[in-house]
This record gives sequence, structure tokens and C-alpha cells, in this order.
Amino acid sequence: MPELPEVETTRRGIAPHIAGWRIVDVRVREARLRWPVPADLGETLTGRRLTDVRRRGKYLLLDFDEGTLIAHLGMSGSLRICKPGFPPRKHDHVDLVFEGDICLRYHDPRRFGCLLWTAEPPERHPLLAALGPEPLDKAFDGAHLHRLAAGRNTAVKSFIMDSRVVAGVGNIYANEALFRAGIHPARPAGKISLARYRNLGEHIAEVLAASIEQGGTTLRDFVNESGAPGYFKQVLRVYDRAGQPCRVCGEPIRCMRLGQRATYYCPRCQR
Ligand SMILES: [Zn+2]
Repeated sequence: MPELPEVETTRRGIAPHIAGWRIVDVRVREARLRWPVPADLGETLTGRRLTDVRRRGKYLLLDFDEGTLIAHLGMSGSLRICKPGFPPRKHDHVDLVFEGDICLRYHDPRRFGCLLWTAEPPERHPLLAALGPEPLDKAFDGAHLHRLAAGRNTAVKSFIMDSRVVAGVGNIYANEALFRAGIHPARPAGKISLARYRNLGEHIAEVLAASIEQGGTTLRDFVNESGAPGYFKQVLRVYDRAGQPCRVCGEPIRCMRLGQRATYYCPRCQR
């Protein structure tokens, strides 16, 4: 599943090819995404100039001279740059064709993603209005987590994956940050000290930043016509390692379900 680093890498990969250019055509082959692609998207976008590609949490914001296209990659979505004449593959649902013979192609086998138009500032859109701070912003730190956690019994892992608490910390990075911070994923959020939250906040930012940096090496995949961008191999210390020895203490990594999500932890290192 595309997580924040993949979305940020996508943003950096596509922006230089399309920013500043006008849309000349929109082709919707399949409108049934998580929410339907607006029927008048072609009418709305044709002739508009893309001014910027931003990211908020796991949403990509394609800003036009007036209005914004909000894109989410869902469970299996990807965006890439190709020539408009390149034959679409299965699940290539939407093309935004720009002047200069450039096409931004949306691919999504499971169709949990979305492409939605808003004429308002996107920060006010219902999908974005309640999002917490960006985990890589100065506004985010352990004190913010500690403040919001007061009195809450919810498991800390579910707490940091709540986008109202902090935007865009997905399952992989929640597992990794908790392992690095030595915090048991099921510990009640309200029963963790400020010092431990400070440590956790730093690890959340660090694992995301490291992954984004690593993603930079795959940028060329966004102009690969033959395949979907290969999401980069992660250097994972705990995620998906059930039964394998902990990289710190050697104890077998355990797996449990928490909030319906696969949760990996070391029973010795994480308390
Ligand atoms: Zn361990």
C-alpha cells in the first residue's frame, strides 16, 4: 500500500514533468473509484494550467490556476508519466493529458483511491479539514502526541495511525517507529510519559524521512512506460518479520492484530 513516503516520492517524481503545463484532454476509462471520478472532470480541467503539486498526509494536491484536484492512491494506486499515445494497460483508469505530449496516468487495480475536484482551498475539503499536523513539520513533536493522548485508553499504535492525531502515519511506519522507540504497540496511549513520546515523535519523523530519501533513487520509475513505479524496498527492522530474531536482542518477533492491522513487535525490547 502506498504510504506517505511513496506519496511524497510520487509527488517529487511527477511534478517536474507537469507543473506549469496546461491540460488538453482528460480520458476516464473507469470512473468507479472509492468515490466516482466527477463526470465533468474533463470539462473542468481542460485548458487549466497546473501550478503546483503538493502533498497533505497521503493526499496529493494538484493545484490549478483555479481549484485543486485531490488524489489519493488508496490501497494499490500509482501515478506515472507516459506519452499520451502509449496503450493503456489493465487498471489504467484515468489519463490527464498535458500540452507538450505528456500524460499523467492513474493506475489502481483495487480502485480504493480517488480523484476529486474542489474549487475551494483543499484544506477545507471534508477529507482534509480534520487532518492532524504533518509528521515532518516543525509543528509535530512528542509533546503534541502527549497532549492529545491524555486520558485515552486506545492502543498507542492505533493512536498514532489516527490521521486526526498526525497525518499519514501508516501501518508499516507505525510498527517501525514503535520498535525504534521501544514502546509496546498495545500500550494505552494515555499511559506513556512525555519523554517517551518525545522519543517516539523523533522516530516517526526519522523513519519517514529515511524512506523518502531512499525513494529518491526510484524517481526514474515514474517515467517508465512499461510498468508501475516499483515502490522501493524498505529497510524494515520489525515489520513483516514474525518469528525472525529481533535485530536488537535476538528474541523472535511476534505478530498480533491491533485495530485489524498486522502488528509486529519484540516482546523484550518493547514495553
Ligand atoms: Zn528485541
